[in-house]
Amino acid sequence: PPRKKMLELDDLHVFYGAIQALKGVHIEVNEGEIVALLGANGAGKTTTLRTISGLLTPREGEVRWRGERIDGVPAHHVVGLGIGHSPEGRRVFPAMTVTENLNMGAYRFKSVPKAELDRVFELFPRLAERREQLAGTLSGGEQQMLAIGRALMGQPKLLLLDEPSMGLAPLIVAQIFEIIREINEQGTTVLLVEQNAAQALRLAHRGYALETGSVVLSGPADRLLSDPKVREAYLGEG
Ligand code: ATP
Repeated sequence: PPRKKMLELDDLHVFYGAIQALKGVHIEVNEGEIVALLGANGAGKTTTLRTISGLLTPREGEVRWRGERIDGVPAHHVVGLGIGHSPEGRRVFPAMTVTENLNMGAYRFKSVPKAELDRVFELFPRLAERREQLAGTLSGGEQQMLAIGRALMGQPKLLLLDEPSMGLAPLIVAQIFEIIREINEQGTTVLLVEQNAAQALRLAHRGYALETGSVVLSGPADRLLSDPKVREAYLGEG
């Protein structure tokens, strides 16, 4: 059966002052999918995620969540709808412990959901071992795990991940991608922003490529992986 539509970006135009970062972006994410959003520096990937989260408001176009418009809804309400965001550059709270950081991710609940904390520590045993360590003293890979774990603490139905591989060694990247697969298999839908196109497409069901604020390619991940245009532009071949 076809998957149910979860998120729809319809003709998004987003500006920073006079600079237009998105020029009519259409993207769909269906329940249960991993969707990869690819593109070079400055293509508009982060802007797209920030618009979904309610951190930016489009000048034109709509963001629809399960059929309802949510563009213009403030970010703290968007979290409450079930959309979690692990931002670019990780942004953990360096002077707080691992556990305290995770608890911050559950701020929308009256009390910290114990089962969710257990699940995060199960997904990331390295965080469990370091639960009392200050986040600022974690390695880059551990901070990335913490940023993802913190987003999971809000119990999102859709998880937005902004370049989880950034600045990390290949072995750590492989581990993190494997955990993203596990998170998805446990029922969370994922929209994954990546410059690491090959690995992202191997993980994803479908993908989109952005160039200077517009979608230039889209389709099933395996088809994109073998597309000569993709191989040349995003996989450094040709
Ligand atoms: P990167 O991987 O470098 O983050 P990206 O694809 O995520 O790239 P965005 O960060 O979304 O790209 O940026 C899209 C465009 O918007 C770029 O031209 C960028 O210079 C511009 N832009 C982003 N943030 C701002 C800002 N705060 N003020 C002005 N322009 C901005």
